[in-house]
Amino acid sequence: MSDLHVYLIAPNGLKFKQPLGLFIDNEWRSSSRGMGIPTINPANEEEICTVHAADTKDVDMAVEAARRAFNGEWRTLDTSVRGELLYKLAGLIEQHADVLATIDAWDNGKTYHAARNEDVVGAISLLRYYAGWSDKIHGKVIDPNADKLAYVMREPIGVCGAIIPWNFPLVNMVTKVAPALAAGNTLIVKAAEQTPLSALYFANLVKEAGIPAGVVNVLNGTGREVGSAIAAHADIDMITFTGSTPTGKQIMKNAASTLKRVTLETGGKSPMLVFPDADLEQAVRWGHRGIMSNQGQVCSATSRIFVHADIYEDFVNQFKAEVERISKVGDPFHSDTFQGPQVTRDQFDRVLSYMETGKREGARLVCGGKAFKNVRGKGFYVAPTVFADVTDSMAIVQDEVFGPFVVIAPFHEESEAIKRANSTVFGLGASVFTKDISRALRVSKRIQSGTIWINSSNDDDVRVPFGGYKQSGFGREMGEEGIEAFTITKSVHINLNARL
Ligand code: ADP
Repeated sequence: MSDLHVYLIAPNGLKFKQPLGLFIDNEWRSSSRGMGIPTINPANEEEICTVHAADTKDVDMAVEAARRAFNGEWRTLDTSVRGELLYKLAGLIEQHADVLATIDAWDNGKTYHAARNEDVVGAISLLRYYAGWSDKIHGKVIDPNADKLAYVMREPIGVCGAIIPWNFPLVNMVTKVAPALAAGNTLIVKAAEQTPLSALYFANLVKEAGIPAGVVNVLNGTGREVGSAIAAHADIDMITFTGSTPTGKQIMKNAASTLKRVTLETGGKSPMLVFPDADLEQAVRWGHRGIMSNQGQVCSATSRIFVHADIYEDFVNQFKAEVERISKVGDPFHSDTFQGPQVTRDQFDRVLSYMETGKREGARLVCGGKAFKNVRGKGFYVAPTVFADVTDSMAIVQDEVFGPFVVIAPFHEESEAIKRANSTVFGLGASVFTKDISRALRVSKRIQSGTIWINSSNDDDVRVPFGGYKQSGFGREMGEEGIEAFTITKSVHINLNARL
């Protein structure tokens, strides 16, 4: 492969220059091996373009650049200047918002509306939020006695490897890049091979913002080769990963060889509990958005709904009506589309296979349960699917499906609902619907989950930490904890008087 850029015309008519190469040291380069990865439009299964695929030699080169940058001017830059660079980058994303949203809608299949108003807006908020933190990372002083003073500094960790999933290509990357840079680290970003384009476009903006060479390097490549090489690399100090639980386990194993710091944001099967006093209409609406948004490809999607027996049938009927009213499946660029295609054929097949599993396991199919056929007969579209009357031992209740696919079951007692909410290996999010404040807080205390939403679902906020319990991972992103994760503590002891 030699071309480092291509001019593209997106389905919405937008023309832009798409980088294709490896972004190392603020320069575009060809991959060492000359190999490419095609990226596919999931709405029509046609190739958009082919990007350069890195190999382990390219990873080494990117790590060398990131190490040089870490040891160079980036390290000594005034912290408020780091903040200004992030504000500048946020401004550039705002200027290029239409292109970035177009790329993610085209490459991932998410609706343009969501890409523009949620992903791009989220990326801007994250950059501005962490820009503000850049000059507010403080240590502390410990004053144990007359002979001694100690202080604790929070230093950047060093060179970080950020491994990005395909469900929120831009915003997931920025969730890692913004706090890592604010804290003074440098980065190798590996975009997901299914959705590589927005990360490359973003790299140009990094350079334009004036961020020094080597601070952010962006590589494409497969998880097996490039992801593993990053996880195992001897000169990378930390891995920040978002993706599936099995891949998280693999990364932890590879990172163990050099005892790297690891933060993992992995899978989920997040429960929603609806008590009899809940506002039923609101519970249905939040529950629907909680599972059906982004084609159900959300790690904290509320994919298991437990409803009190007294209101169970009403809930199921209203949920079905909400799916019929809102979940319009179609072209991601049409303004009335709520649900685009699944990201890849693999994901499409996975969701379809769980539909068959649900039928085989004897759950009641309320709606969906099949591929969605559009007029062109192309694209990875599935019908939004609801199974009711499920039992906890079913695979469709235990496994993360990662699609517009929800299971609903009745419960009778609060303690039973809590027990069932906790009965998977995951613990990412949970939603509780009730007007009884004591019950809401009591239940929240007992659910093993990194996030609880009371009377809402998935309304996350850049200022509030997010992350998992159990096999949903560890480490937190967003909020103050999100920047602490990219710092390391240094303790300095000062002898004031004591003589040996
Ligand atoms: P999915 O299984 O849904 O495709 P993954 O968790 O495998 O999601 O992918 C998330 C990210 O992890 C992608 O960037 C992918 O390339 C990367 N990845 C996959 N396998 C590995 C691995 N063994 N080591 C490091 N990264 C990996």
